[in-house]
Amino acid sequence: MRILLVEDNERLAEAISENLTAAGFAIDHVARGEDALTVTADQQYDAIILDLGLPDIDGMDVLKALRDKKNAVPVLMLTARDQLSDKIEGLNKGADDYMVKPFETDELIARLNALLRRPVQAVSEIITVGNLSFNTTNRQAMARDKILELSKRETDLLEQMLRSLGKIVSKKSIEMRLYSYDDKGSVNSVEVLVHRLRKKLESYDAGFDIHTLRGIGYMIMDPVNDAPAD
Ligand code: CA
Repeated sequence: MRILLVEDNERLAEAISENLTAAGFAIDHVARGEDALTVTADQQYDAIILDLGLPDIDGMDVLKALRDKKNAVPVLMLTARDQLSDKIEGLNKGADDYMVKPFETDELIARLNALLRRPVQAVSEIITVGNLSFNTTNRQAMARDKILELSKRETDLLEQMLRSLGKIVSKKSIEMRLYSYDDKGSVNSVEVLVHRLRKKLESYDAGFDIHTLRGIGYMIMDPVNDAPAD
């Protein structure tokens, strides 16, 4: 079993590495969030032990980046006692378990073994924008406690747009993604589809809109992070 340990406290990292190695795990250790993302891009791990407080990017952001890339590797978060409220947030954002520092290494190993026995499909990713949350596993969108009634194409379009949050999605890429060769869509049908989805987002009070960039494509802006500065 190959485990990635992301921990910036060298002494703690050393102690965990030693104990896990003795327990038969193969351990790779990095101290920075960016390095964690770099190594996970090339190497498939069986689990990641992820410290919340890292010197560069936050452990929570590392986790979100992994899940955004559809990496469903089991993640065990390490959190300090004064970050206890964060652990709830961490689990909601797709962590599988957490441990509060300080902890016994024996317990860490026991939790790790429990994680490794779980089916990976148990991890579901939720994308949240405005009032809307989209579950990528059951592909259900909810806003204001109501499930949006969307066609398959509308759901596909919504997922594609949400995964490219804050980025321009070209008409061409929507067309390529939504329409297969024997079922050719046109730029016009993309426009109709966007129009329909936009209406539904509005009627369910999703709290964001699909912006049209004339001649270029479409974009969903994150109402929290990308609010236009006027
Ligand atoms: Ca730390």
